[in-house]
Formats: sequence, C-alpha cells, structure tokens
Amino acid sequence: MNNIYDELKKNFQIIHGPCSIENYEQVYDFLNTFNGSFSYLRGGIYKPRTNPNSFQGLGEKGLEIIKKLREDFKFDFVCEITSIKQLNLISEVNVIQIGARNMQNFELLKAVGKVGKPVLLKRGFGNTVEELIGSAKYLESVGCNQIILCERGIRTFSNVGRFTLDLSAVGYLKDNYDYPVIVDPSHAGGKSTEVIRLAKAAKAYGCDGLLIEVHVDPPNALSDKDQQLNFQEYKDLLDGLKYVNSK
Ligand code: PEP
Ligand code: MN
Repeated sequence: MNNIYDELKKNFQIIHGPCSIENYEQVYDFLNTFNGSFSYLRGGIYKPRTNPNSFQGLGEKGLEIIKKLREDFKFDFVCEITSIKQLNLISEVNVIQIGARNMQNFELLKAVGKVGKPVLLKRGFGNTVEELIGSAKYLESVGCNQIILCERGIRTFSNVGRFTLDLSAVGYLKDNYDYPVIVDPSHAGGKSTEVIRLAKAAKAYGCDGLLIEVHVDPPNALSDKDQQLNFQEYKDLLDGLKYVNSK
C-alpha cells in the first residue's frame, strides 16, 4: 500500500516538499496544507552544497522532526543520503534519494542497494542516460528491485535556466527500460515561473511523476530559494496539472 515504486507504475504521482527540512513548523505548515490523507514528502537533511559555508542540512535533528510529524500526518519520507555512514541512522526514511552529484558514487550505490528500500536515482548533470542505467545496474547488482529514475536537468551550452531539462531522455528511458521515470523541474528550472512551465511540459510529455520543491516562505529558505514554489503557486500548479494528460 502506497509503495512509491508500485504507485508510479500505476498512476502519475507527485513527490513534494521543501528543499531542506529547516524546522518543525515549516514542514508542519506544508503538510497541513498539502498532505491530504497521505503524500510523498521530500526534504533534505544532508544537503550537498556547492559551498561549505552554505546551510548543510539539519542532519539527524531533521529525522527527529520527521518522527514528530508522523504523530499528525501520514506520509512516506523521501530523503537524500550522501554517505554510507548515514545508512545506520535513517529508519525514518522510506525512500532513499541518490542525488545528481552522487550518481556515480558506486560504493554508495552498492551500500544503498542492499537496504531493501526503494531508491530514487537522480541523473548526474554531466552524465548520459546510459551512465544513469549503469548506476541503476549497480543498485540491482546487490538486490535492489525498486529503482525510480529522475531527470533533473543537465549542463549544456544553454545559459538560460539553471540546467537544461532533457525530456528526450525521459522518452528514451521509457521506450527502452522498465523503470518508472520522474522529472524534477525544480532543479532544472531554477526559478519558480520556469519550474511551473517545465512541470506541465514534463507531465504532458509522459513522465510517471514529478518532484517539486515547495516552501512556506521561499525568499527566506535556507537553500534553493529562487526555485521553490510558494503555497499559492503550488496550489495553482496542482490545479493546472489536473488538465494536463500524462499519457
Ligand atoms: C535535491 O534534490 O535536493 C538536489 C540537491 O538535487 P540534485 O541532486 O538533482 O542537484
Ligand atoms: Mn533543492
């Protein structure tokens, strides 16, 4: 019931939440507004940041917040891990995310693949789709059979947008492999207006689901503040997506 891998195979799904778990109230407000009876909540606690002085995530304190939120809400928690050491700590995590920067961290993949949880594997922004498949095979080689692939934008010579969303990769992966493929328009778009357009385009294109960053107060977010949708923008997007056919 509610296993994300199985649900993505059946119907279009959305994974949502803030870029980073910052405090209890922030995530409470989000779930109180958007959880419904159940949702796939995503939020980072171990953040892979370009600069060491940027917010690095709450670490285990973030997991305490998640535990407390389960008293009031039903959700599966999707969370990136960046190191094998974190694997001992993440009983609260239902779906493990491998971020773009770790897509080819093969030791991490082999450790994560053994855990028995679904894995959300993001494409590296400098990697081909076949390299993404290679990483999926690493997970499979140690027994992981619930792999979700995610296109999140790649680096090209285009200098508009944060990354270039490679929708053709989604079609290629769907035509040639059996994995569910989701799209992250947030990290590709880099600013909320673009995220909204890319989300609709990706659904129309035929991906199996979306990963969207939403924050109660984006201008004051501790990470990715330009791309996180505010609550009104996200409500409007959810309304708009109802009119977009995914198949
Ligand atoms: C994220 O999903 O929060 C993230 C850091 O994304 P990516 O690994 O795609 O850059
Ligand atoms: Mn982010």
